[in-house]
Amino acid sequence: MTTPPTPDTYRALRVIRDGDEKRAELQTLPLSELPEGEVLIAVSHSSLNYKDGLAVTGKGILRQWPMTPGIDLAGTVLDDASGTYAPGTAVILTGWGIGERQDGGYATRARARAEWLVRQPAGTDAAWAMSVGTAGFTAMLAVMALEDAGVRPGHGEVLVTGAAGGVGSTAIALLSAAGFTVTASTGRPEEEAYLRDLGASGIIGREEVPALKRPLEKERWAGVVDTVGGETLAGAYASTRTHGALAVCGIAGGTGLNTTVFPMILRGVSLLGIDSVTCPQPRREAAWQRLARDLPASRLAGVTQTRGLSEVPALAPQILAGQVRGRTVIDVNG
Ligand code: NDP
Repeated sequence: MTTPPTPDTYRALRVIRDGDEKRAELQTLPLSELPEGEVLIAVSHSSLNYKDGLAVTGKGILRQWPMTPGIDLAGTVLDDASGTYAPGTAVILTGWGIGERQDGGYATRARARAEWLVRQPAGTDAAWAMSVGTAGFTAMLAVMALEDAGVRPGHGEVLVTGAAGGVGSTAIALLSAAGFTVTASTGRPEEEAYLRDLGASGIIGREEVPALKRPLEKERWAGVVDTVGGETLAGAYASTRTHGALAVCGIAGGTGLNTTVFPMILRGVSLLGIDSVTCPQPRREAAWQRLARDLPASRLAGVTQTRGLSEVPALAPQILAGQVRGRTVIDVNG
């Protein structure tokens, strides 16, 4: 049981270390426990990402304890010592190490640097922002990277791997909104209707892409959004078309990359790195503006479930096991 928060306290899900054991528990803490930063935020929503699953289950992404996980948050400014944001301004914060190196979004209050925040786009709210979250933001960065590399809807199929996950699901919706023909690679064939509803026109099995082992496979993909890494990324790279590009986002299936330079030097294929955590501010704002345009709340409704903060410890192992479909918004007051 935790005591209800008073104006000088806040409620947080903390990961604590007790010898070798790490566990998550809800605590009520004084505001003085918050990290440094000019802006005090009343958090209303956070979200559940793969990284949050790792943090909450004590699997290695945290370096210090106790720590409040939650790599995403949205809420309103209570006070800003930098003078950038008036009290009441709705803001979004993703990445910059929150929920990893300093306390994050699984709390009713947060403190952060003003330069990390993005204003909530007009016509959107905190629940929408967290339905997008780091996963949707990463998917947007991936699509923008492919476009910047010259990939266009008329060039052919775009492959999305880890398709039923958070990044994959939103990448399909964004690519389809931009007019691309999307092929979804998934280990969950039962999600076919869900993936087609998001905008995928073709579905392939998870084992198909990593089976492509030759340095240069038959050219198929104009572009790739890869959230899986390892042999899946290697197979996708070997089968990308001349002057195509791959946005490399994730490691759900492995961190290695065993391949050759041939697709790069014989086909002009580009590997594009996506890092949502340190993405520069102007790119962040551009991505959020486009997300507001291309991924309205109505489009995300079927992809999103909302859960309370107290449910996070039970959900964390599920996202690590690849059992969570789409996006999970966390109501931090729930
Ligand atoms: P999810 O768990 O929601 O999705 C991952 C998906 O990958 C699963 O749904 C599953 O899709 C597939 N998958 C899981 N395990 C395996 C496996 N062993 N082999 C092949 N496919 C697998 O996570 P997110 O979408 O939130 O994140 C995806 C990846 O992107 C993670 O590695 C995460 O760390 C990374 N990421 C990177 C960011 C960046 O800035 N670069 C930001 C955000 C996330 P299916 O069931 O359809 O097969």
